[in-house]
Amino acid sequence: MNKEMLKLGSNRSIIRELFEFSKLKKAELGDDKVYDFSLGNPSVPPAKEVNESIKYIIDNKSDTYNHGYTSAQGDNNVREAIANDLNKRYNTSYKKENIYMTCGAAASLCITFRALVESKNDEILAIAPYFTEYKVFVEGAGATFNVVPADLNTFNINFTELEKTVSKNTKAIIVNSPNNPSGVVYTKENLIKLASFLNEKQKEYNHPIYIICDEPYREIVFEGNTVSHIPSLYDNTIVCYSYSKSLSLPGERIGYILVPDKCFESKELYLACLGAGRAYGYVCAPSLFQHVIEACASLTSNMNEYKKNRDLIYNGLTKIGYECVQPQGAFYLFMKALEDDAYNFMEKAKKFNIIVVPSDNFGVKGYVRLAYCVSTETIINSMKAFEKLYKEYNK
Ligand code: PLP
Repeated sequence: MNKEMLKLGSNRSIIRELFEFSKLKKAELGDDKVYDFSLGNPSVPPAKEVNESIKYIIDNKSDTYNHGYTSAQGDNNVREAIANDLNKRYNTSYKKENIYMTCGAAASLCITFRALVESKNDEILAIAPYFTEYKVFVEGAGATFNVVPADLNTFNINFTELEKTVSKNTKAIIVNSPNNPSGVVYTKENLIKLASFLNEKQKEYNHPIYIICDEPYREIVFEGNTVSHIPSLYDNTIVCYSYSKSLSLPGERIGYILVPDKCFESKELYLACLGAGRAYGYVCAPSLFQHVIEACASLTSNMNEYKKNRDLIYNGLTKIGYECVQPQGAFYLFMKALEDDAYNFMEKAKKFNIIVVPSDNFGVKGYVRLAYCVSTETIINSMKAFEKLYKEYNK
């Protein structure tokens, strides 16, 4: 068998391990005594229209429509609804031919990487801190994964490091904003700077360098911060989107890839995405949820809940004395560990029944990630435990 796959399957991700630990602890102590901030599973229910459209579709449409195959690229109507929704938001002129329906952001990313990568020499870059699975997806597509080290002051793009990391082999750079795990939203100025930097590099190396926007948190953004539509800033941009977070549908596996006409050889690139989806055996995205998205493309869950949690956790922890990056979007808080070794800190936190994820897997040392997509009570009740943990270090 393939040893790489055996390794991937055997070494569970730290987040999954912590989640299992939390389940055991909760069984032992009770749910309200364990403060589990490990998993990015949306805590807010989907917009009510989601369940209403499921019922409507089931009651009014045929079984073949509801559960049969759609075209590989997705049903025409949902792709049109998504293109129209994007056009309203961003003043663009996308058509259904630019949209390819997928099984969520993970599939969007894997398909996009596979569509672009020609050999192991091709490099795909991620900006630290980054979503841990990028490495698995990029290497799975046969490319080399390289990291642009973080700007530890702003957690925006570190251009000095980017300049050192980009090479003639760079095929694409992944941009994830609002960011998992830092919660930072990249500023428009930074994205314009990135666009102009990459335009220069494309000229220098005489080949396209793509921005792959991974934006499942696009709609989870707090006061005053806006998420720029990167295809309007840089031509060679491919968007990987998912309804897992914005509509709280992570288990339904539904999302899309947007290949704008402005991309280099965009028609061929779109076909290469179809080819990659075919090679991976995706066949088509789930039919029922394609129809649901047709009705709900412009909606989101109630984002005020995340804002409330963000304020509680950020204000609570900084008041105790913890140093935190202020989250501007998504539902993660990046907090400085109270010692250099984030793994040790995670272990100490566990003693107080606090479960946090060490930052090493996100490409930064000395921090932990807290997913605050939990009940408000969990955050409020956890503060005493965080205080005890803080005192343990400041005796
Ligand atoms: N990208 C980022 C940054 C994520 O945080 C996640 C999931 O947590 C994904 C992609 C995968 O999302 P999906 O569930 O839509 O595959």
